[in-house]
Amino acid sequence: MPFKRRHDSDDESAVVKKLNIGSEEHSSDLESDLENATEELHLGYLKTINRSRLDFDFEKVCCISLATVNIYACLVCGKYYQGRSKSSCAFSHSLDEDHHVFINLDTLKVYILPENQEVKLRSEVLEDIKYQINPTFSPEDIKNLHQLKEISFDLQHRPYRPGFVGLNKIGANDYANVVLQIVNHVDALRDFLLKGEFEEELTKRISLMTRKSWSSRLSRPHLSPHEIMQYISDKSGKRFSAGEQKSPKDFLVWILTNLHSELTPKGKTRSLVSKLFQGKVKIITEKVANGVPTGSRLESSTKYWILTIDPPAFTLFKDGTGLTQIPQVKITHLLSKYDGETAQKLAHGNKMFKLITVPPFLLIHINRMSGSHGLEGVSGTSRNPTIVKFPFENLDMSPYVEGATGPIQYKLIGNVIHQTIPVTKMVDGTEMAIDSHVYKIHLLDQVRGDWLEIQDLNVKPVEKELLFMQETYLQIWQKVL
Ligand SMILES: [Zn+2]
Repeated sequence: MPFKRRHDSDDESAVVKKLNIGSEEHSSDLESDLENATEELHLGYLKTINRSRLDFDFEKVCCISLATVNIYACLVCGKYYQGRSKSSCAFSHSLDEDHHVFINLDTLKVYILPENQEVKLRSEVLEDIKYQINPTFSPEDIKNLHQLKEISFDLQHRPYRPGFVGLNKIGANDYANVVLQIVNHVDALRDFLLKGEFEEELTKRISLMTRKSWSSRLSRPHLSPHEIMQYISDKSGKRFSAGEQKSPKDFLVWILTNLHSELTPKGKTRSLVSKLFQGKVKIITEKVANGVPTGSRLESSTKYWILTIDPPAFTLFKDGTGLTQIPQVKITHLLSKYDGETAQKLAHGNKMFKLITVPPFLLIHINRMSGSHGLEGVSGTSRNPTIVKFPFENLDMSPYVEGATGPIQYKLIGNVIHQTIPVTKMVDGTEMAIDSHVYKIHLLDQVRGDWLEIQDLNVKPVEKELLFMQETYLQIWQKVL
């Protein structure tokens, strides 16, 4: 049956009406002929889809009009266009480029343009694309993530582990990538985010990223954080963006605070996020007069998302061969800050800390970047390169928790590493030496029992024994029940 392009659906119904004249049986034959012909035609168009050019991690913006609503992706070239009416950018694109298959990025309905026909195939030919845009997880799928060791393959048959998927560096966003990986890998939070459809804007976007990251049907084994960083930049008033490197610790606190505020039910003060990550610390302030404690003590308490520990003042010391050695310190030594006795000496008094509660997922920040006790970098910025030694399992927090009656054991599940790389940069025609700060993350694959390093796009196995040799910056500990 020859096919003529029709430009709106009214024409189509007119044809169907005409065909309806005659006996019922006859007309239903004709209808089904028409349906078959349309289906055949649509299948022909679907062959023009170029899956290797499709990437649904980008902000949903029309590349011509910059509109952000009613956006379609051209499945032939991957570009985004608004609308499908005769005056729309998608419509023009279909005529200009001879590209005819478009998907609505909200409804996931597929249309042929300029005919403006919805593709209603019974086959599952488009399911992989719809799944790429919006992966979904059943309770069974989520349960399987805790036990299945199968690896997946992308479009080019490259193997990857779902969940251990790199994130593009689109500027200076390595600091954000490590934080997004943390959110992806705390299993109690991940399982919640995988369940899917949220109304809250930040949660919705993080959920989508988590669902994509754990998808076993990715077309390529990495994701772009472009859309989510664009949103975060707007929501944070440009405090956190892809273009400028910030502190991963500050960004993690921002993410947790905002998720917490979105997910706290009305009239309540706690959310899943605060239940998983928030603890409470007691602060004891002892007044000092003329350098002598007065015996007057004030107690207060505050909630924390992250415990900060401070490596001791850094001094380079030389070994017998004249080489400088980087000092090493045990994490338990640094955690004694929270034993309620070790005092931080401040101008107006001494401060002691004791933990009142510790959360199921304990975040520990090693404070290397502030204070004047660091190693001068080539750019003059200082950092403390002290090596912090830590166990992988059986970190007992009970010495730091008020009223603890038995061990409170934690195991390490993630470790953010800071690296300083000296680079030269041209400033006003002069070569300047500066420090480039790089963040990457080591993650425990809890199902397979090994560790992987993710630095932006790159994912590789890493020897457990080598983990503490680098500058650990932020650690994620899971309480062992
Ligand atoms: Zn196109």
